[in-house]
Amino acid sequence: MTYPSVPLVPLLINGEFVQSKTTEWRDVINPATQEVLARVPLATPAEMEAAVASAKAAFSTWRKTPIGQRARVFLKYQQLIRDNIKSLAATLTAEQGKTLADAEGDVFRGLEVVEHAASIGNLQLGELANNVAKGVDTYTLLQPIGVCAGITPFNFPAMIPLWMFPMAIACGNTFVLKPSEQDPLVTMRLVELALEAGIPKGVLNVVHGAADIVNAICDHPDIKAVSFVGSTRVGTHVYERATLAGKRVQCMMGAKNHAIVMPDANKEQALNALVGAAFGAAGQRCMALPVAVLVGEARNWIPDLVAKARALRVGPGKDNPDLGPVISRAAKERVEAMIARGEQQGATLELDGRIRNPSTEISAGNFVGPTIFSKVKPGMVIYDEEIFGPVLCVTEADTLEDAIALINANPNGNGTAIFTQSGAAARKFEEDIDVGQVGINVPIPVPVPMFSFTGSRASKLGDLGPYGKQVVLFYTQTKTVTARWFEDDVSTGVNTTISMQ
Ligand code: NAD
Repeated sequence: MTYPSVPLVPLLINGEFVQSKTTEWRDVINPATQEVLARVPLATPAEMEAAVASAKAAFSTWRKTPIGQRARVFLKYQQLIRDNIKSLAATLTAEQGKTLADAEGDVFRGLEVVEHAASIGNLQLGELANNVAKGVDTYTLLQPIGVCAGITPFNFPAMIPLWMFPMAIACGNTFVLKPSEQDPLVTMRLVELALEAGIPKGVLNVVHGAADIVNAICDHPDIKAVSFVGSTRVGTHVYERATLAGKRVQCMMGAKNHAIVMPDANKEQALNALVGAAFGAAGQRCMALPVAVLVGEARNWIPDLVAKARALRVGPGKDNPDLGPVISRAAKERVEAMIARGEQQGATLELDGRIRNPSTEISAGNFVGPTIFSKVKPGMVIYDEEIFGPVLCVTEADTLEDAIALINANPNGNGTAIFTQSGAAARKFEEDIDVGQVGINVPIPVPVPMFSFTGSRASKLGDLGPYGKQVVLFYTQTKTVTARWFEDDVSTGVNTTISMQ
C-alpha cells in the first residue's frame, strides 16, 4: 500500500539525513487512533555498511577531540532537550501512546543522562601509582574503543537511546543507533537536536530495521561494542551472536518485578505506589510492578487495591488520562489472551480491563484497562510470563522469608520493591534479594545517572551496566602504562630477570 502524504523516516549517515533505498517499509502507527504517522525503512546491507564506515572514519578524529570540547557538546545538548521537552513529549505520546506527563518523564530521565555525559571530564579518569619501582610510574589510560552500536526497545523511545549514545560519544567513541521500528520519531528528533548541539558528522549514525539489521550489527567486524535493551529472548540472541563475533555486549532485558507489601506498611502509600507502578504507561515499563506479594494481614487489602485501580482513567495519552493504550493491536490481543488464560488457569479475576463497549473516543485504539488477578501462583501463564500490559497479579505469602524465596525463584531479576515501616525487614530484603534494582518504599527504582542501571539472572547479560560510572569502563579500553624516566645517564647494564628494582 502507498501513502503519498505520510512522511518517510530518514537514516542518518555521515551527518546527512538520507532516504533509504529499501523496498521494505513498516508503518509507525498512533496506538490511540491507528493513524499512520510515518513509514520507517528496513535499511539495506549497503546502508548499514555506509553507516559503519562513516562512524569508523569519524573515530580517527573524534577520539582525539579534547575531553572538554566533547563535554561542551552535551552541555549544549541538554539545554536543547530542555527547550524542546514539550514537543518531544507530544511526538512520543503520538507514536508510543503513554500520557503526555509520562512522556515528559521519559524525556527527562534521558536528559539526566545527557547532563551526566557533560561531566565526562570527571568520569573518564585513569589511575596513577607513583614509584612502583625506582623511577617508575604506572598509570592507566581509559581510551575509547571505536564504533559502538545501540539497539533500543519501543517502551522508552527517548530515555533508552539517551542511555546509550551520549555516554559512548562523550567517551570519544562513534555510534550507530538502531531505534525501535515501532516508534522511531522521537528518537529521530533527539538525534536532530544532537547534531544541532555540535556532534560532528559521522560521529552519530542511525539505521532503521528489525531482525536483519540487528544481526548485521552483531556480526559487523568494525563494531566493537553493542548496547541492547529489550526482551530477554532477543537480548539473549544478541548477546550470544555479538560476543561470538568478539564484541563487548551489555543487554538489559525482560522483567517480572515483584513488590512485597508487609502488614506494617503505610497502607495508603503502598497501595498508591502499587497502582501507579502496575498500571502507569499501561504496564509497559521494564520497571513496572506486575506482581504484588501481600504478606500476612496485608492480604486483606485487595478490595482497596481494586477500588483504586478501578478509578483510573483510560484514554488517549494526549488528554493526560492515567494510562494510554498499549503499543499495537498485536500487543492488545496478546494481553487479552493472557487475561483469558489467567481465568482458565484458576486465578481470580478481581478487575477485568478488557473493554467491551468502548466509547467512540477509544474505540479505535489499543486500549486495555487496569486488570487485577488474585490467587495467582507460579505455573500460571500470567505469573510465569512477562505480560507487558496493565495486568497486576496478586499473590500471598505468610512471611517475609517466603516472599523473598518466591522472588528469588523467579527467573527474572530486574527490579523489586518492599513496602514496610520496619528497618529490619527492609535490611533483610536488600541483603537477601537477588535482583538488580531494589526499592524500599519506592515503587520504580530506576537509578539516577550517578549510578548504573543493573539487573540479575534472566534480566541482564554482560557485567557492566548502562550510564553511571560502569558505562565509562564499558565504552573504554583500559591501557596500563609503566614508564621509567632516568634521572641520569648511567646504564644499569643488562638485566634478564623480571624484577624492576
Ligand atoms: P524487543 O526485544 O522486541 O525489541 C528490542 C529491539 O530488538 C528492537 O530494536 C527490535 O527491532 C529488535 N528485535 C526485535 N526482534 C528481533 C529479532 N528477532 N532479532 C533481532 N532483533 C530483534 O523488545 P520491545 O518489545 O521493543 O521492548 C519491550 C521489552 O524490553 C520488554 O521485555 C521489557 O522488559 C524490556 N525492557 C527492558 C529494560 C531494562 O532496562 N531491563 C528497559 C526497557 C525495556
